[in-house]
Amino acid sequence: MAEKIGFIGLGAMGGPMAANLARKGSDLIVYDIDSAKVQTLVDLGATPAGSVAEIAKAADIILTMLPDSPEVEEAVLGPDGILAHGRPDQLVMDMSTIAPSTTDRLLKTLNEAGIGFVDAPVGRLVTHAIAGELLFMVGASGNDFGRVKPLIEGMGTTIHHCGAPGTGIRTKLVNNLIAISVCQIDAEAITLAQAFGLDVQNTIDVINGTTAMNGHLITNWPNKVLKGDTSPGFRVALAHKDVSLALQAAHEAGIPMFTGASVREAYASARAAGYGDQDFSSLVDFLCEKAGIEPPRL
Ligand code: NAD
Repeated sequence: MAEKIGFIGLGAMGGPMAANLARKGSDLIVYDIDSAKVQTLVDLGATPAGSVAEIAKAADIILTMLPDSPEVEEAVLGPDGILAHGRPDQLVMDMSTIAPSTTDRLLKTLNEAGIGFVDAPVGRLVTHAIAGELLFMVGASGNDFGRVKPLIEGMGTTIHHCGAPGTGIRTKLVNNLIAISVCQIDAEAITLAQAFGLDVQNTIDVINGTTAMNGHLITNWPNKVLKGDTSPGFRVALAHKDVSLALQAAHEAGIPMFTGASVREAYASARAAGYGDQDFSSLVDFLCEKAGIEPPRL
């Protein structure tokens, strides 16, 4: 009999990811603190759950796609959580971007109770989540990887088995330190282009023809901020969280991060100025606002 899949966290990413599993025939039970998000999945055939405990009792494999470490920790270790209400031979796959130290703690605690744990954070954007074209960075034992692979294939097109549990989340932080920093330097450069009065499309065409090229200006910005759409997408608050997680991990490893530290503060200022729930491409709007010039639009 097919395994029953629990899905916790149906936001900008988790919603479309769960929807893809539902459409591809997974036997799905879903939970989010926002009941409207649960209803969207029920409309696609999923069973609603009223709590994490209900998911823990019903499902064989439990997927989490939550904002940050405290939410994942609560879902797994809290009184209403998976550890308290689950059973041996279940498997938890966390796809959120959280602190590696939290991942390590969840792995150890769940394994002691006979419950498996896989970290499988994702790369790419909400558009890829909708299209089922995400990239997964998976930390898992060989057996657990085999068990989750069909599910991952239902949500993504590119799978990297990075190694043992804990390697997926670490790979994700390395990747996001770059992605989030490059978005900030793009914002600074395009704000300068605006101040020069340059043609935005021409400037981006030049950038994308040299080693300055990057995914933000090729994929995300033309579909988001440059069209005047700054709805998330990937929220500034989550990008700030990710770069903070990378810096904390670097601090623990004794590695200085000159650029990362200033990038973190750039995101902190955008967040403090009210951009926290906007797409991270809106950093350019924030800088243009500070500079008193028109934001770039195509
Ligand atoms: P989101 O804020 O849109 O969604 C989070 C969802 O979790 C919301 O629906 C919220 O109601 C729900 N939630 C919060 N606390 C809960 C709890 N205690 N129990 C149940 N549900 C709870 O965030 P998102 O953009 O979907 O991101 C989710 C994770 O994926 C984050 O760790 C983020 O860093 C990562 N990520 C996001 C993107 C992106 O482009 N948005 C890309 C890659 C990775």
